[in-house]
Amino acid sequence: MEPTELFKEAVLWEPAEGGWVRCYLCNFHCRIGEGKLGHCQVRKNIGGKLYSLNYGKIVAANPDPIEKKPLYHFQPGSRSFSIAAIGCNFRCEFCQNWQISQAALETGRIDGEEASPEQIVTGAVRTGCKSVAYTYTEPTIFMEMCNDCARPAKEKGLANVFVSNGYMTREAIDFAADWLDAINVDLKAFTDEYYKRLCKSRLQPVLDSIAYIARQTKIWIEITTLLLPGQNDSEEELKKLADWLVAEAGPDVPWHISRFYPQYKYTDSAPTPLESLQRAERIGKAAGLHYVYLGNVPGTKSENTYCYKCGRTLIERTGYWIGANHIKDSKCPQCGTQIAGVGL
Ligand code: SF4
Repeated sequence: MEPTELFKEAVLWEPAEGGWVRCYLCNFHCRIGEGKLGHCQVRKNIGGKLYSLNYGKIVAANPDPIEKKPLYHFQPGSRSFSIAAIGCNFRCEFCQNWQISQAALETGRIDGEEASPEQIVTGAVRTGCKSVAYTYTEPTIFMEMCNDCARPAKEKGLANVFVSNGYMTREAIDFAADWLDAINVDLKAFTDEYYKRLCKSRLQPVLDSIAYIARQTKIWIEITTLLLPGQNDSEEELKKLADWLVAEAGPDVPWHISRFYPQYKYTDSAPTPLESLQRAERIGKAAGLHYVYLGNVPGTKSENTYCYKCGRTLIERTGYWIGANHIKDSKCPQCGTQIAGVGL
Protein backbone atom coordinates (compact mmCIF):
# COMPACT_ATOMS: atom_id res chain seq x y z
CA MET A 1 0.00 0.00 0.00
CA GLU A 2 1.28 3.45 -0.95
CA PRO A 3 0.78 6.33 1.49
CA THR A 4 -1.86 8.75 0.20
CA GLU A 5 -1.37 12.50 0.15
CA LEU A 6 -3.18 12.84 3.43
CA PHE A 7 -0.99 10.40 5.34
CA LYS A 8 1.77 12.29 7.03
CA GLU A 9 5.05 10.70 7.97
CA ALA A 10 5.00 10.32 11.71
CA VAL A 11 7.36 11.89 14.21
CA LEU A 12 9.27 9.95 16.87
CA TRP A 13 9.73 6.51 15.34
CA GLU A 14 12.65 4.49 14.13
CA PRO A 15 13.09 1.63 11.68
CA ALA A 16 13.63 -1.85 13.04
CA GLU A 17 14.81 -5.07 11.41
CA GLY A 18 12.72 -6.81 8.76
CA GLY A 19 10.66 -3.76 7.79
CA TRP A 20 9.29 -3.29 11.29
CA VAL A 21 9.17 0.13 12.93
CA ARG A 22 9.24 1.18 16.57
CA CYS A 23 7.12 4.14 17.66
CA TYR A 24 8.23 6.07 20.71
CA LEU A 25 5.57 8.76 20.75
CA CYS A 26 3.79 7.19 23.70
CA ASN A 27 4.65 4.67 26.36
CA PHE A 28 3.17 1.72 24.53
CA HIS A 29 6.35 1.80 22.43
CA CYS A 30 4.66 -0.23 19.71
CA ARG A 31 6.69 -2.43 17.39
CA ILE A 32 4.70 -2.44 14.19
CA GLY A 33 5.05 -4.82 11.26
CA GLU A 34 4.61 -3.87 7.62
CA GLY A 35 0.97 -2.97 6.86
CA LYS A 36 -0.03 -3.03 10.54
CA LEU A 37 -1.41 -0.39 12.89
CA GLY A 38 -0.14 0.71 16.27
CA HIS A 39 -2.20 0.16 19.41
CA CYS A 40 -3.81 3.60 18.90
CA GLN A 41 -5.13 2.49 15.48
CA VAL A 42 -4.10 5.76 13.82
CA ARG A 43 -0.43 5.12 13.03
CA LYS A 44 0.54 2.64 10.36
CA ASN A 45 3.67 1.03 9.03
CA ILE A 46 3.59 1.54 5.27
CA GLY A 47 6.62 0.23 3.45
CA GLY A 48 8.84 0.34 6.51
CA LYS A 49 7.91 3.92 7.45
CA LEU A 50 5.46 5.06 10.09
CA TYR A 51 2.60 7.31 9.01
CA SER A 52 -0.06 9.27 10.87
CA LEU A 53 -3.48 8.39 9.43
CA ASN A 54 -5.46 11.09 11.25
CA TYR A 55 -3.40 14.06 10.08
CA GLY A 56 -5.59 16.97 8.95
CA LYS A 57 -8.82 15.08 9.66
CA ILE A 58 -10.63 17.16 12.23
CA VAL A 59 -13.69 15.87 14.08
CA ALA A 60 -14.27 18.87 16.37
CA ALA A 61 -13.44 22.56 16.24
CA ASN A 62 -15.04 24.78 18.88
CA PRO A 63 -14.11 28.07 20.55
CA ASP A 64 -14.48 26.78 24.15
CA PRO A 65 -13.94 28.65 27.39
CA ILE A 66 -10.45 27.70 28.61
CA GLU A 67 -12.16 26.74 31.88
CA LYS A 68 -13.78 23.80 30.04
CA LYS A 69 -10.41 22.07 29.50
CA PRO A 70 -10.23 22.54 32.57
CA LEU A 71 -7.45 25.12 32.93
CA TYR A 72 -8.29 27.56 35.73
CA HIS A 73 -4.92 29.26 36.14
CA PHE A 74 -4.08 29.83 32.49
CA GLN A 75 -5.49 32.91 30.73
CA PRO A 76 -8.72 32.75 32.77
CA GLY A 77 -11.84 34.01 31.00
CA SER A 78 -10.32 33.48 27.53
CA ARG A 79 -11.49 31.21 24.75
CA SER A 80 -9.49 28.36 23.33
CA PHE A 81 -10.04 27.05 19.79
CA SER A 82 -10.46 23.36 20.57
CA ILE A 83 -9.74 20.71 17.97
CA ALA A 84 -9.59 16.93 17.88
CA ALA A 85 -8.75 14.09 15.54
CA ILE A 86 -9.97 10.51 15.90
CA GLY A 87 -8.15 8.05 18.11
CA CYS A 88 -6.75 7.32 21.54
CA ASN A 89 -4.09 5.10 23.03
CA PHE A 90 -6.26 4.37 26.12
CA ARG A 91 -9.41 2.26 26.30
CA CYS A 92 -11.17 3.87 29.24
CA GLU A 93 -14.51 2.17 29.85
CA PHE A 94 -15.98 5.45 31.11
CA CYS A 95 -14.70 7.69 28.29
CA GLN A 96 -16.84 10.79 27.85
CA ASN A 97 -15.78 11.26 24.22
CA TRP A 98 -15.74 7.61 23.16
CA GLN A 99 -17.63 8.32 19.90
CA ILE A 100 -14.50 10.02 18.59
CA SER A 101 -11.72 8.66 20.81
CA GLN A 102 -12.59 5.01 20.16
CA ALA A 103 -14.01 5.43 16.64
CA ALA A 104 -11.08 3.83 14.82
CA LEU A 105 -11.35 0.77 17.05
CA GLU A 106 -15.15 0.58 16.99
CA THR A 107 -15.69 1.26 13.26
CA GLY A 108 -12.30 0.75 11.62
CA ARG A 109 -12.66 4.18 10.03
CA ILE A 110 -10.73 7.38 10.57
CA ASP A 111 -13.20 10.07 9.58
CA GLY A 112 -12.90 13.81 9.84
CA GLU A 113 -13.20 16.98 7.84
CA GLU A 114 -10.08 17.93 6.02
CA ALA A 115 -8.52 21.01 7.58
CA SER A 116 -5.08 22.53 7.18
CA PRO A 117 -3.08 24.01 10.05
CA GLU A 118 -3.57 27.44 8.47
CA GLN A 119 -7.35 26.98 8.53
CA ILE A 120 -7.22 26.01 12.20
CA VAL A 121 -5.16 29.05 13.14
CA THR A 122 -7.39 31.34 11.05
CA GLY A 123 -10.42 29.88 12.82
CA ALA A 124 -8.85 30.56 16.20
CA VAL A 125 -8.06 34.17 15.33
CA ARG A 126 -11.46 34.80 13.74
CA THR A 127 -13.31 33.55 16.82
CA GLY A 128 -11.28 35.71 19.20
CA CYS A 129 -9.48 32.80 20.89
CA LYS A 130 -6.23 33.31 22.78
CA SER A 131 -5.07 29.72 22.36
CA VAL A 132 -5.51 26.53 20.39
CA ALA A 133 -6.44 23.48 22.46
CA TYR A 134 -5.70 19.95 21.30
CA THR A 135 -8.34 18.07 23.24
CA TYR A 136 -11.43 15.80 23.39
CA THR A 137 -9.30 12.86 22.19
CA GLU A 138 -5.62 12.22 22.99
CA PRO A 139 -3.46 14.94 21.39
CA THR A 140 -0.27 12.89 21.66
CA ILE A 141 -1.47 10.65 18.87
CA PHE A 142 -2.18 13.52 16.52
CA MET A 143 1.11 15.15 17.41
CA GLU A 144 2.04 15.91 13.78
CA MET A 145 -1.09 18.04 13.34
CA CYS A 146 -0.50 19.71 16.73
CA ASN A 147 3.05 20.56 15.73
CA ASP A 148 2.02 22.01 12.38
CA CYS A 149 -0.77 24.10 13.94
CA ALA A 150 1.17 25.21 16.98
CA ARG A 151 4.02 26.91 15.18
CA PRO A 152 1.86 29.29 13.04
CA ALA A 153 -0.41 29.74 16.08
CA LYS A 154 2.56 31.05 18.05
CA GLU A 155 3.40 33.46 15.22
CA LYS A 156 -0.11 34.89 15.59
CA GLY A 157 0.37 35.31 19.34
CA LEU A 158 -1.76 32.32 20.30
CA ALA A 159 -0.84 29.85 23.03
CA ASN A 160 -1.12 26.08 22.64
CA VAL A 161 -2.64 23.75 25.20
CA PHE A 162 -3.07 19.98 25.55
CA VAL A 163 -5.67 18.01 27.44
CA SER A 164 -3.97 14.67 27.80
CA ASN A 165 -3.87 11.31 29.53
CA GLY A 166 -0.15 11.92 30.15
CA TYR A 167 1.00 8.72 28.44
CA MET A 168 3.41 10.46 26.09
CA THR A 169 7.11 9.64 26.28
CA ARG A 170 9.71 12.06 27.56
CA GLU A 171 10.83 12.44 23.94
CA ALA A 172 7.30 13.54 23.01
CA ILE A 173 7.22 16.10 25.82
CA ASP A 174 10.58 17.47 24.69
CA PHE A 175 9.33 17.54 21.10
CA ALA A 176 6.33 19.70 22.11
CA ALA A 177 8.04 21.80 24.75
CA ASP A 178 8.97 24.61 22.32
CA TRP A 179 5.38 25.45 21.60
CA LEU A 180 3.26 23.84 24.32
CA ASP A 181 2.25 26.44 26.90
CA ALA A 182 -0.13 24.54 29.15
CA ILE A 183 -1.46 21.06 29.74
CA ASN A 184 -4.14 19.42 31.79
CA VAL A 185 -3.18 15.83 32.57
CA ASP A 186 -5.66 13.25 33.78
CA LEU A 187 -4.40 11.44 36.84
CA LYS A 188 -7.21 8.95 36.72
CA ALA A 189 -6.40 7.04 39.89
CA PHE A 190 -3.42 6.16 42.04
CA THR A 191 -3.27 2.40 41.50
CA ASP A 192 -1.80 0.51 38.59
CA GLU A 193 -4.63 -1.99 38.96
CA TYR A 194 -7.20 0.71 38.06
CA TYR A 195 -5.23 1.83 35.01
CA LYS A 196 -4.82 -1.76 33.82
CA ARG A 197 -8.41 -2.85 34.40
CA LEU A 198 -10.37 0.20 33.32
CA CYS A 199 -8.02 1.98 30.86
CA LYS A 200 -5.81 -0.85 29.55
CA SER A 201 -2.73 1.15 30.40
CA ARG A 202 -0.37 1.79 33.33
CA LEU A 203 0.00 4.35 36.08
CA GLN A 204 3.76 4.88 36.30
CA PRO A 205 4.30 6.52 32.88
CA VAL A 206 1.59 9.05 33.75
CA LEU A 207 3.30 9.88 37.04
CA ASP A 208 6.62 10.20 35.22
CA SER A 209 5.10 12.65 32.71
CA ILE A 210 3.50 14.81 35.40
CA ALA A 211 6.69 15.03 37.44
CA TYR A 212 8.80 15.73 34.36
CA ILE A 213 6.50 18.46 33.02
CA ALA A 214 6.16 20.10 36.43
CA ARG A 215 9.87 20.03 37.29
CA GLN A 216 11.78 20.11 34.03
CA THR A 217 9.71 22.22 31.61
CA LYS A 218 8.07 25.64 31.49
CA ILE A 219 4.71 24.14 30.53
CA TRP A 220 1.95 25.18 32.93
CA ILE A 221 0.28 22.04 34.30
CA GLU A 222 -3.04 21.27 35.98
CA ILE A 223 -4.36 17.85 36.99
CA THR A 224 -7.81 16.26 36.72
CA THR A 225 -9.10 13.20 38.54
CA LEU A 226 -12.51 11.76 37.66
CA LEU A 227 -13.90 10.09 40.77
CA LEU A 228 -15.59 6.77 40.06
CA PRO A 229 -17.67 5.58 43.01
CA GLY A 230 -16.01 2.60 44.68
CA GLN A 231 -13.12 2.49 42.20
CA ASN A 232 -10.66 5.29 42.96
CA ASP A 233 -12.30 7.31 45.71
CA SER A 234 -11.07 5.67 48.92
CA GLU A 235 -9.61 7.98 51.53
CA GLU A 236 -6.33 6.07 51.51
CA GLU A 237 -5.87 6.25 47.74
CA LEU A 238 -6.80 9.92 47.47
CA LYS A 239 -4.48 10.82 50.31
CA LYS A 240 -1.60 9.03 48.57
CA LEU A 241 -2.45 10.77 45.30
CA ALA A 242 -2.61 14.24 46.89
CA ASP A 243 0.61 13.70 48.87
CA TRP A 244 2.34 12.59 45.68
CA LEU A 245 1.13 15.69 43.80
CA VAL A 246 2.46 18.01 46.51
CA ALA A 247 5.82 16.23 46.56
CA GLU A 248 6.34 15.79 42.82
CA ALA A 249 4.39 18.60 41.13
CA GLY A 250 4.38 21.11 43.99
CA PRO A 251 1.59 22.65 46.07
CA ASP A 252 0.72 25.20 43.36
CA VAL A 253 -0.47 22.59 40.86
CA PRO A 254 -4.27 22.98 40.57
CA TRP A 255 -6.16 19.72 41.17
CA HIS A 256 -9.58 19.33 39.55
CA ILE A 257 -11.73 16.61 41.10
CA SER A 258 -14.43 15.80 38.63
CA ARG A 259 -17.85 14.21 39.00
CA PHE A 260 -18.48 11.03 37.02
CA TYR A 261 -21.67 10.45 35.02
CA PRO A 262 -22.37 7.03 33.46
CA GLN A 263 -20.80 6.78 29.99
CA TYR A 264 -19.83 4.33 27.24
CA LYS A 265 -19.30 0.84 28.74
CA TYR A 266 -19.45 2.01 32.33
CA THR A 267 -23.15 2.57 32.90
CA ASP A 268 -24.00 0.49 35.97
CA SER A 269 -22.69 3.02 38.46
CA ALA A 270 -24.49 6.05 39.86
CA PRO A 271 -22.91 9.51 39.42
CA THR A 272 -20.28 10.41 42.02
CA PRO A 273 -22.00 11.54 45.25
CA LEU A 274 -21.30 15.15 46.18
CA GLU A 275 -20.03 13.99 49.61
CA SER A 276 -17.26 11.93 47.92
CA LEU A 277 -16.15 14.93 45.91
CA GLN A 278 -16.14 17.15 48.98
CA ARG A 279 -14.17 14.55 50.96
CA ALA A 280 -11.57 14.44 48.18
CA GLU A 281 -11.43 18.24 48.22
CA ARG A 282 -10.73 18.21 51.98
CA ILE A 283 -8.01 15.57 51.48
CA GLY A 284 -6.33 17.65 48.77
CA LYS A 285 -6.30 20.78 50.91
CA ALA A 286 -5.11 18.89 53.99
CA ALA A 287 -2.21 17.49 51.93
CA GLY A 288 -1.13 21.05 51.20
CA LEU A 289 -2.45 21.68 47.69
CA HIS A 290 -3.19 25.39 47.28
CA TYR A 291 -5.86 25.10 44.61
CA VAL A 292 -8.43 22.31 44.65
CA TYR A 293 -11.55 22.48 42.48
CA LEU A 294 -14.69 20.41 41.97
CA GLY A 295 -15.78 19.87 38.37
CA ASN A 296 -19.10 18.86 36.80
CA VAL A 297 -20.96 20.23 39.84
CA PRO A 298 -22.01 23.74 38.76
CA GLY A 299 -23.13 26.07 41.49
CA THR A 300 -20.78 24.99 44.30
CA LYS A 301 -18.31 27.45 45.78
CA SER A 302 -15.58 24.94 44.96
CA GLU A 303 -15.40 26.30 41.40
CA ASN A 304 -13.95 29.58 42.69
CA THR A 305 -10.28 30.38 43.18
CA TYR A 306 -9.37 31.49 46.70
CA CYS A 307 -6.14 32.88 48.11
CA TYR A 308 -4.60 29.97 49.98
CA LYS A 309 -3.12 32.35 52.56
CA CYS A 310 -5.95 34.71 53.52
CA GLY A 311 -8.98 33.00 51.95
CA ARG A 312 -10.04 36.00 49.81
CA THR A 313 -12.15 35.01 46.78
CA LEU A 314 -10.01 35.69 43.73
CA ILE A 315 -11.88 34.31 40.72
CA GLU A 316 -15.64 33.73 40.86
CA ARG A 317 -16.89 31.01 38.54
CA THR A 318 -20.23 29.50 37.61
CA GLY A 319 -19.65 26.46 35.46
CA TYR A 320 -17.28 27.58 32.72
CA TRP A 321 -18.09 31.25 33.12
CA ILE A 322 -16.17 33.83 35.11
CA GLY A 323 -18.16 36.33 37.16
CA ALA A 324 -15.20 38.38 38.36
CA ASN A 325 -11.43 38.12 38.53
CA HIS A 326 -9.99 40.11 41.45
CA ILE A 327 -6.35 39.05 40.98
CA LYS A 328 -4.04 42.05 40.47
CA ASP A 329 -0.69 41.44 38.74
CA SER A 330 -0.84 37.75 39.70
CA LYS A 331 -1.28 38.67 43.38
CA CYS A 332 -4.05 38.50 45.93
CA PRO A 333 -5.43 42.08 46.27
CA GLN A 334 -5.91 41.57 50.01
CA CYS A 335 -2.64 40.06 51.27
CA GLY A 336 -0.33 40.29 48.25
CA THR A 337 0.33 36.54 48.01
CA GLN A 338 1.61 35.46 44.61
CA ILE A 339 -0.99 33.33 42.78
CA ALA A 340 0.49 30.72 40.50
CA GLY A 341 -0.51 30.63 36.88
CA VAL A 342 -0.19 32.34 33.50
CA GLY A 343 -2.00 35.50 32.41
CA LEU A 344 -3.95 35.82 35.65
S1 SF4 B 1 1.43 6.53 19.54
FE1 SF4 B 1 0.26 4.73 18.84
S2 SF4 B 1 1.70 3.56 17.61
FE2 SF4 B 1 2.92 5.02 18.81
S3 SF4 B 1 3.50 3.87 20.66
FE3 SF4 B 1 1.61 4.96 21.15
S4 SF4 B 1 -0.05 3.53 20.72
FE4 SF4 B 1 1.79 2.74 19.70
